[in-house]
Amino acid sequence: MTTAEKIEKINNELENYPTLLIAVSKTKSVEEIKGAYAAGQRHFGENQVQELNEKQAQLPDDIVWHQIGHLQRNKVKYIAPYVGLIHSVDSLKLLQEINKQALKVGRIIDCLLQIQISGEDTKFGLEYADAIDLLRSEEYKGLENIRIVGLMGIASNTPNEKMIKEEFHDLNVLFSGIKESFFKEDTAFKELSMGMSSDYKIALEEGSTMVRIGSLVFGERNYDNK
Ligand SMILES: *Cc1c(COP(=O)(O)O)cnc(C)c1O
Repeated sequence: MTTAEKIEKINNELENYPTLLIAVSKTKSVEEIKGAYAAGQRHFGENQVQELNEKQAQLPDDIVWHQIGHLQRNKVKYIAPYVGLIHSVDSLKLLQEINKQALKVGRIIDCLLQIQISGEDTKFGLEYADAIDLLRSEEYKGLENIRIVGLMGIASNTPNEKMIKEEFHDLNVLFSGIKESFFKEDTAFKELSMGMSSDYKIALEEGSTMVRIGSLVFGERNYDNK
């Protein structure tokens, strides 16, 4: 199957869901991204700032770039001028830095809080209680150049589908609780970024609005730098 055919196949599967395909292009070349772009794909996800910057400079301006990987504070300034959505906010300090850099370039940057949903402690993300504390803090309330539009989570890397389903389900429950408590009148808070190549079908059933799919679109990565 060509990249275009793979994208079409996934989009057909997403048709009955309120879910957007984010093509995860990390480690893939500008030429490969152009192939997906030619097939109509406009949302791409990257996890390394330097790689993202290099690609952004060479590709069309109507691409929406998603920063999906762990983001270091000192790198925020490089993507602040153009990034469409940052999926990986895992601390108040990072959010404050995004706000500062967004203010400098006169933007409001959309962000997701990354929540730790898997039992594996190798993954980044906020604990549930820390996410609530962040949203309650005075510091957060003062940030005018960021907008939190939802939550993101990465399920355990396991063949146990029941476990993955429970993790996605719990994230959706947290999402509803946070929506009710902090964003009740805010229609922008509506995104639930969950699901990758191996588990997006489960994520769709559990209410995902954004799936981040790499290998199923572009083929296996030669080296895995996630
Ligand atoms: C690499 C990556 C993906 C995509 O992974 P695939 O298994 O190739 O679909 C999704 N989300 C994050 C955060 C990633 O780093």
